[in-house]
Amino acid sequence: MQKVILDVDTGIDDALAILYTIGEEHADLIGITTTYGNIGLHQATKNTLDLLNLVGETDLPVFKGSIHSLSDKEYIRREVTSRIHGENGIGNIEIESSTRKPESQDAVDFLIDSAIKYGKELKLICVGPLTNLAYAYEKNPEALLQVDEIVIMGGALTVPGNVTSFAEANIIEDAVAAKTILESNLPLKIVGLDVTMRTILTQKETEEWWKYNTNCSQAIAEMTDYYFKSYKERLGFDGCALHDPLAVGIALHPELAETLALNLLVNLEEPSRGHIIGDYEKLHDKNPTTEVCIQVDHEQFLAHFMQAMENILNI
Ligand code: CA
Repeated sequence: MQKVILDVDTGIDDALAILYTIGEEHADLIGITTTYGNIGLHQATKNTLDLLNLVGETDLPVFKGSIHSLSDKEYIRREVTSRIHGENGIGNIEIESSTRKPESQDAVDFLIDSAIKYGKELKLICVGPLTNLAYAYEKNPEALLQVDEIVIMGGALTVPGNVTSFAEANIIEDAVAAKTILESNLPLKIVGLDVTMRTILTQKETEEWWKYNTNCSQAIAEMTDYYFKSYKERLGFDGCALHDPLAVGIALHPELAETLALNLLVNLEEPSRGHIIGDYEKLHDKNPTTEVCIQVDHEQFLAHFMQAMENILNI
């Protein structure tokens, strides 16, 4: 089984990614680290603990991470983010509060310790702003360089961004952290809008969750309905993109994606702050350490996702 850590800003698609990882038989989820992003750090951590409680995963450790980006003094939630993920980040569904608290160890130290302990056995899957990862890398770069792979949901190389026409949300939320990580020699795989916007979940799939008729399946179907509604209102299409779950899918099933090996740059200047692009100076590098996903087997991914979700929701 593949050991993984999820770094999340629990949001609706983060919630789906967490449940998907737990339901996937190939995954050994050893811990979850939290960050601000879709919502503030406190609520992201609460959402994570509450979701784990909902599905009976009461021993899985959760580590609290960064409260704001490297370049800001506080986290200010974008108005559009509330519309996409709801006031509470999980589509305004009400689920029982977990009595559990996060671990006393900080997310950054957990990432470093796990990288040292497991090395090549470990993949990190980061589906929020890259602040925790940047702190960990700055504190102990050698440790992070030992992991097998760091799969990042973020960026848009071949398509426009979703916050500005240049930038995707996770990258622009902490562009300085993204620059630190994406321009490093870490073994990265970038799962950006190039591929996540091709993996669409629709009501056809969530009808199955409603039919399972468990507390858990109803809550998750209701949460996903909120996401559908926001997609319909903002973008006018039926269904929602499986951004964060796809990062998990590609980490566990690399054959799902076609990738381009490329050294990336992250722009910090307006108006294209948060834009990622290939580094012109390094085009002759024979061994770039970053792979950018540019195509995905949508049907195969959806089959993996739906099976794992059935494993966890239909019990
Ligand atoms: Ca996320």
